[in-house]
Amino acid sequence: MCLLIRFCRGKRKAERYWRESGVRKIANLGATKHLTILPLVDWYTSSEELKGEAGVSYLIKTDTNSILFDVGYNVEQSDPSPLLHNMKQLEVSMDDFDAIVISHNHCDHVGGTKWEKRKSFSLTTHQVNLEGKVVYTPIPMTYPGLNPICTETPTVIATGVATIGVIPNQDFFLGWILEQALAVNVGGKGIVLIMGCGHQTLSKIIKRAEALFEEPIYGVIGGLHYPVTDSREKMMGIKIQKYAGKCRLPWEPITMGNVKESIDRLKKLNPRVVGLSAHDSCDASIAVFRNAFPNAYRDIKVGEEISIES
Ligand SMILES: [Zn+2]
Ligand SMILES: [Zn+2]
Repeated sequence: MCLLIRFCRGKRKAERYWRESGVRKIANLGATKHLTILPLVDWYTSSEELKGEAGVSYLIKTDTNSILFDVGYNVEQSDPSPLLHNMKQLEVSMDDFDAIVISHNHCDHVGGTKWEKRKSFSLTTHQVNLEGKVVYTPIPMTYPGLNPICTETPTVIATGVATIGVIPNQDFFLGWILEQALAVNVGGKGIVLIMGCGHQTLSKIIKRAEALFEEPIYGVIGGLHYPVTDSREKMMGIKIQKYAGKCRLPWEPITMGNVKESIDRLKKLNPRVVGLSAHDSCDASIAVFRNAFPNAYRDIKVGEEISIES
């Protein structure tokens, strides 16, 4: 009962926060000619040498900057973590990124439950030296030797790159969630949105982006949490993502109808690049997305770079 009260209160608070979080157009975003997104952690991999898991970490490169978006799950807390293992296989070093953006403080994005509890993050079992990196987090978080910047409101973090600011939601089990997504402006094409789990809901992410940018939305890539037929992450045999993280009552499942509603919303934008992370969506949802956007759909697989040129 107390979870139900918390849920109802949280939902009201999220709606209030959303209504009151008026945002102004971002005037100084700039643009990049080239954008590449290299998944370093996700469920599917492009080769057997790479490790897949129900987490997210993408290396995002523009003309001038390189950003590590989330740091994976490392569910077994192994060293090297899947992230570090895949970085080595893909010849990505710590010098290949200058900033880290954390989408939200959930274990599958901050490197494990231990770090989530500490409101911190880690690329492997221990916190490696990240001296010189700039870190952007959706809530106040810490990291040894660094001073992460909490980007609650929309913030330009590099030429052509902004976080759209946090959009809250309330989950029945996981509680209050503050999540941010990234927006990259590819010159002459438009805004590419990159999401972690997508707890904000796609419709609010789109509304926020439309309020912030003059440019059209060109692409949508990442997690949107559509575990309709199955979940990747299981806890004691329970398909956990079908219940936790969906920001609905436990007895209200995510349906294929909901997935199609999101697709209809997205189709109005005529996006040219669409990719759904398998870490929190089932294969059936991915298949529906792929069929809905036959020319735009891109698989998200560890080691398979998605490249967008102006
Ligand atoms: Zn996630
Ligand atoms: Zn999450």
